[in-house]
Parts: sequence; C-alpha cells; structure tokens
Amino acid sequence: MFKISLSAGHAKTTPGKQTPDGSMKEWEFNSAVVKYLMAELANYEDVAVLRLDDPTGQRDIPLQERSDRANAWGANVHIDIHANAYGSTWNDACGIETFVYKKSLKEAYSLAQKVQSNLIKATGLKDRGVKEGDLHMLRETKMTAILVECGFMTNQEEAKLLKSDNYRRIVAGAILAGLVEQYGLKKKAKQEETKVTSYQLNDQEKRMIEELTKLGITDGKNPERTVNQLYLWKVVYGVIKGIREGKIK
Ligand SMILES: [Zn+2]
Repeated sequence: MFKISLSAGHAKTTPGKQTPDGSMKEWEFNSAVVKYLMAELANYEDVAVLRLDDPTGQRDIPLQERSDRANAWGANVHIDIHANAYGSTWNDACGIETFVYKKSLKEAYSLAQKVQSNLIKATGLKDRGVKEGDLHMLRETKMTAILVECGFMTNQEEAKLLKSDNYRRIVAGAILAGLVEQYGLKKKAKQEETKVTSYQLNDQEKRMIEELTKLGITDGKNPERTVNQLYLWKVVYGVIKGIREGKIK
C-alpha cells in the first residue's frame, strides 16, 4: 500500500490567510484541491490517503498534530497545499513555487520538480521554481514531503483563478500527474469494463445485438456500458436515417 498524506494549509477560521478583499480564505482553495486530489487518487491501485486538516475548516489543526499523524500513520509521501501571499494588499507578485526541506533530499526534490513542472504546464503561470524552505511540515515529517504554493491570493488575476472551480481541478490534476510520474501509480481497471466481461447475454439479447450490428446501429461491444444522451441520439438518428434510405424495413 502506497500511503499519501495530504494537508490543506490552515483552516477557514484562520485569521488573515485570505485575499485582500476577504472574498476567499486560503483554506477554501487548499481544501478544494485536497478534495479533488483525493477523488482522483481513489482511482489508483493500492493507494491510501490520509487528510490531515479539518475537512470542515473549523479547527486550524496545529502543525505538530498534523506532522505527528502523518508520521504515526507511516505515510510514504506528504503533500501540503497552499496559496501564496505577498503582504496583505493587492500587488504584482505572481506565479507558482514548490518547497522542499533540502534539495539534497533526492526523492523530495525529484517529486517537487515533477509536480512543479506539471503545475506550470497545466496553468501557464510564472515558474518560480523549486525552493528550499525550513517549514514545519517539511522538516518534522519523516517521509518525502513537498509543499506547493499554487498562485498568489494578493494578485488580482491569480485570485480570480484561485477562486474558480476549474483552476482548482487543474491544480489537483497537475499534482496527481507529478505523483503518477514519480511513483508509477497504476489506474484501477474501470468498473464498467470488469462488469462487461461478467455479463451473460441471453439468446434473445444475442439475436437482437447480432441484427443491430448488421444494421450498423451498434458494434455490439460492452452491452452493460452506461450511455449518455448524445449516444442515444446517435442511435435514434441512425435508425431514422436507415428508414429514410430504405436500409431498414
Ligand atoms: Zn498557506
């Protein structure tokens, strides 16, 4: 089992730690990214995730308590998620940076570089690089640990991004991509695919599928796959077209 601890920095109730106009608390961004990352990681084989902050945002869990939990659980990797600030008023500071305790920690530095480059690729924001930081969650955790600062709350353009659901998903996807690259995480086989192999068609269904395949309405594969509206419309349209052209009588 590959264990990943995740921490959304601070809490919703933490004073300061917000955009200069107070429209977003840093934790709201951090928490959304943790949530999306956890949902993504649930699709991977043999991965366990532990969330270290308070998911309700009420309690700013002390850093010592967070690092103690990650250590006691035996996490293989820790990722701390933040949004940056330069002072407390609007200004031009911008971009994304990733911290490691020491660049000489090879695994952490390598993971940080992969996550950082994926973040820059996915967002197109300024690359502030991988930096060393004497930060509690990097220093006091026993496993490979990185801390990402995913844009500045004090920059008006970046604050807009940090507030958007789309940007939060993009950030989670980029962190995931870095993890997958570094550790070769494997995606679970999709449920619908495993279901299909076990589904037994009866004779009537088999004859129906055979006929529909001949008419070009289906390829007859994956009988249990869930379809969307567009697919349904295509099938209906195929039938109408077949009748119009005299192929279906
Ligand atoms: Zn922070």
